[in-house]
Amino acid sequence: MSQAQIISGKTLAATVVETVKQATARLIAQTGIIPGIAVVIVGEDPASQVYVRSKGKRAEECGFLSRTHRLDAGTSEADLLTLVESLNADAAIHGILVQLPLPQHISEEKIVESILPEKDVDGFHPINVGLLSSGNRSRAMIPCTPAGSLMLAKQALGENLSGLNAVVVGRSNIVGKPMAALLLQESCTVTIAHSRTREIEALCRNADLLVAAVGRPQMINAGWIKPGATIIDVGINRVDAPEKGEGKTRLVGDVDFDAALGVAGAITPVPGGVGVMTIAMLMANTAIAAARAAGRADLEPDLSL
Ligand code: NDP
Repeated sequence: MSQAQIISGKTLAATVVETVKQATARLIAQTGIIPGIAVVIVGEDPASQVYVRSKGKRAEECGFLSRTHRLDAGTSEADLLTLVESLNADAAIHGILVQLPLPQHISEEKIVESILPEKDVDGFHPINVGLLSSGNRSRAMIPCTPAGSLMLAKQALGENLSGLNAVVVGRSNIVGKPMAALLLQESCTVTIAHSRTREIEALCRNADLLVAAVGRPQMINAGWIKPGATIIDVGINRVDAPEKGEGKTRLVGDVDFDAALGVAGAITPVPGGVGVMTIAMLMANTAIAAARAAGRADLEPDLSL
């Protein structure tokens, strides 16, 4: 059997960033408004630090005003709320992202709900969740990881996903649930699987489109995959890599990539798949938020989402 097509997140993310750059240049030329993004990080979590640095770099590349607020791990919830309020009121900032996870003593729910929905470029505010699930994509901010995953799926399957059996493994608020909502709007027949799902392997084997967002290294192997299926691997798991030397690690997805290559029709790699798309979609959301704030929805980047 032939090998699966590898869907490159890097290539697609570069296209998205290019589209965002052009839309930003048009927005600036026609309205004088420069999209502004504020990224807030509390504490020293190394993975979060890496993400925040990449976000800042990408934002500058897109021509945005980019600000990073680094707060120490002991910052109080009240102080963080005050910062979010000041960013809500700041006309130069169109997108606010508070990097999760937050330290234990801060309620993520409270912080997410304190961000103005129109500046919530992560798409986690209950208003945006509601707009997405009621199908109002033109007003919603769509969470970046599912939005990027959908674009990757369309790279392999084309624009029309109507009638496909889609299985999303994982039901988190940030990936699984919004992913399922997006696929339902694409007229897929959607099943959400999770840790209590019975006969999950057989269920997944029925999927034309399988989205894995579990957080368990290489859990999904060849036996879970329908021949020819498209696999979107959201998982990012760090595992030991003694073959690279003592104490070394590497990143793997939730899917056993090498095993899947022989069965699937198309698959995203880890790294170089969903992760890079997530950051590109954050840039897209910031440009969208700025165009909407200017009352110029016609100047949003056109990603045909
Ligand atoms: P969560 O831990 O919030 O959710 C994991 C989901 O997987 C839960 O719904 C859980 O079920 C389900 N699950 C756990 N074990 C099993 C199992 N054995 N069988 C079936 N389902 C299971 O994770 P996230 O959604 O935040 O993230 C998932 C993965 O995606 C992680 O690897 C994360 O690092 C990665 N990620 C990647 C991003 C990117 O940009 N590429 C962005 C965000 C996340 P239950 O609800 O029943 O507990």
